[in-house]
Parts: sequence; structure tokens; C-alpha cells
Amino acid sequence: MVLSGISSIDPGEIPSASNLGLAPDGITDGQPGGRAHALSLLGSFLTERGQTYRTAMSTPLEGATACSRLSPHFAWGTMTVREAVQATAARQREVKGTREGWVGSLKSFQARLAWRDHFTQKLEDTPEIETRCLHSAYEGLRGGPPDTERLGAWERGETGLPFVDACMRSLIATGWLNFRMRSMLMAVASYHLWLDWRATGPHLARMFTDYEPGIHWPQVQMQSGTTGVNTVRIYNPIKQGHDQDPQGVFTRRWVPELADVPTEFLQKPWEWEEVGSLRYPAPIVDVPAAAKAAREAVWSVRRGDAFRAEARAVIEKHASRKDLRFVNDRARAPRRRKRGARQLSFDL
Ligand SMILES: Cc1cc2nc3c(=O)[nH]c(=O)nc-3n(C[C@H](O)[C@H](O)[C@H](O)COP(=O)(O)OP(=O)(O)OC[C@H]3O[C@@H](n4cnc5c(N)ncnc54)[C@H](O)[C@@H]3O)c2cc1C
Repeated sequence: MVLSGISSIDPGEIPSASNLGLAPDGITDGQPGGRAHALSLLGSFLTERGQTYRTAMSTPLEGATACSRLSPHFAWGTMTVREAVQATAARQREVKGTREGWVGSLKSFQARLAWRDHFTQKLEDTPEIETRCLHSAYEGLRGGPPDTERLGAWERGETGLPFVDACMRSLIATGWLNFRMRSMLMAVASYHLWLDWRATGPHLARMFTDYEPGIHWPQVQMQSGTTGVNTVRIYNPIKQGHDQDPQGVFTRRWVPELADVPTEFLQKPWEWEEVGSLRYPAPIVDVPAAAKAAREAVWSVRRGDAFRAEARAVIEKHASRKDLRFVNDRARAPRRRKRGARQLSFDL
């Protein structure tokens, strides 16, 4: 069929959510969509913004500009990953041998583009990853209906843990968060608040402009410790606040109730002598005690031959080739591994 005169069709304005009868999504500072924006982001990342990517990607302040911000475009199809890989390879040839940070940053970026497909393959291979724990031993660990008060406080950014609340409120307003902060939000929900990932994962999915099931559900399970094979990473949200936001700029921006709290108390306002003057909730959990209880509960499941046999099957099916090589080397020569050498931590 020949479509004649198609270029003369006026596409008109993109309808807003209210035009379509949808409720407001709460985003006040979202990324613009469309092909032109995708191309512009790729260009600015490869020639300007990406120079510090390797070192700046994890901080909440710099990450927003140092990361590519291409994820919504990949998710919605306004740019393909292949285009980004090829443009990055061309730029890598240009910067080869230079010393201003580009070489390392572009290498890290290419690795993450590959992770995208690595993770998406897991959903293809195991679609149940959206609904069932990858390792069955964790099924029912956080059983029963979720604690709705905790869930609601986490979803709204009102847990009383300043850095957690800042990250959640920033996500609600922008639809985006860097990897480290997504991991921390998920880990705090799963460990400290002891909420099942099937209650919390959908909230993040709804908030992310870049929601991509193939990345999202494997990551949600990894950060919740239900794969049975990844390192259990229980981020300390107070330490993360100190490390990633040492001056408190990000925290104060998104939690203005804490604007007057001195920096040394910002991540633990409950220890500030004037805490009574704040209109900010008390923490809904005791962070060290909650982390300890979670660690014990998660590790108590990781014992016995049956657990290990299933974990091995998960590794065989889902681990990256690099990790499998490591597993196989260990199987051949387990005694050669030095004490303190790399922990088994699979890139699942
Ligand atoms: C709990 C949790 C849920 C997540 N859910 C999603 C999701 O729904 N959609 C999504 O696109 N990403 C998700 N991520 C991965 C990552 O956080 C985002 O891809 C990244 O923050 C997007 O920003 P960017 O495009 O600027 O990333 P950049 O750092 O510029 O990376 C470029 C691209 O590489 C890919 N990528 C980056 N990090 C990862 C990773 N860890 N795993 C797989 N692919 C990666 C993405 O396609 C990304 O757009 C999730 C991470 C966690 C911890």
C-alpha cells in the first residue's frame, strides 16, 4: 500500500494526561520525550556531560547530569540501544589515548548498555521473575499482607529517614533516580521496613518514567535479597546520606522541613536538641536494629544442601559468562582462593 501525502498530515499537539482523562502523575520536573530530545541527550552526554560519568554517576546531585538520562528513550523506543552503542564506540575511537576521564567513563557506559540486555534476557528466560522469588526459599519470608503504614510512609517519602525521603520525593517529582539511590530505596523497603518486593516494586514501576520490566524485576529481587545468590546488600541510609550528600544540599532541597537542621544532625535529626521544633516524622524504624534483624532472617534461610542446589541452578541459568567462569574456576581449584579475596557475588 502506498501512503501518499503522509508528510502533510499535522500530528497536532501531544495530548496531556487530563485530555486523556488520566489522573495527574505528580511529576513536576519530568524529562521531555521525543526523538529530538533523545538525540540531543546522546550528543551532550558523549561530548560534555559524560566526562565525569564514572565518578559522578552515584551521587544524587551530580548523577542527574553526569548520567546519560537515556533510559526513558530506550523504554519508550525513541532511541535504540544499538544507536547508543554505535555512537559511543565512535566516540571511544576519538578519545582513545586521552587522559581526561573520557576513556574510563565511556567504558563504564558501554558496560551498562550491555547490562540492559543481560537483565532483559532474564525476564525472557524466567517470566515468573515478576511474581515469584527467584530462589523459592525466600517465598513467604516476608509473608502476609504488607504493613500498610510502613508502605504508605515509604511511598510518600515520609519515613523519618531524611535521605530515603529525599530520594523518594525527588523520584516522585522527576520520574528518575540514579542507580545507587534506586538500590537504596529498594533495600530500605525490603530490609529495614521488611516489606515484600511485590508490594514495593509496583510503586517504583509507577514512579519511573523509564519503567522497563526486564531491568526492573531482576533488580528489585537483587536488592531485596531474594535471588539467593547475590551478596546481601543492606545499605545504611544514614551513612549513604553522609557519603552521597555530605553538605546536605540534596536532602534539604527535597525535605525542606529539615532546612534549619545543622549538617551534622541532618541525617539523624532525632539526635538534634531542637528536634521538637521540626514538622517532620520520627523515624519509623530503628535503623541498626532493623538491619540486624533482617540480616539474620535472610541468612537463616541460606543454609542446607537443598538451598545450595537451587542456588547453583539459578547461577547456571542466569549468571553472566564472566561469573560462570569464576564459578567453574572455583569448582576446579577451590583451595587456591585466598582469604579475603572476592566474595561470591553474581551479576544477576
Ligand atoms: C530497583 C531498581 C529498579 C530499576 N528499574 C529500572 C527500570 O525500570 N528501567 C530502567 O531503565 N532501569 C532501571 N534500573 C536500572 C538503572 O537504575 C537505570 O537504568 C538508570 O538509573 C537510568 O538512568 P540513565 O539512563 O541515566 O542511566 P546510565 O547510567 O546513563 O546508563 C545507560 C543505560 O544503561 C542501562 N543501565 C544502566 N544501569 C543499569 C543496570 N544496573 N541494569 C541494567 N541496565 C542498566 C539503562 O538502559 C540505562 O539507560 C533499576 C535499578 C534498580 C536498582
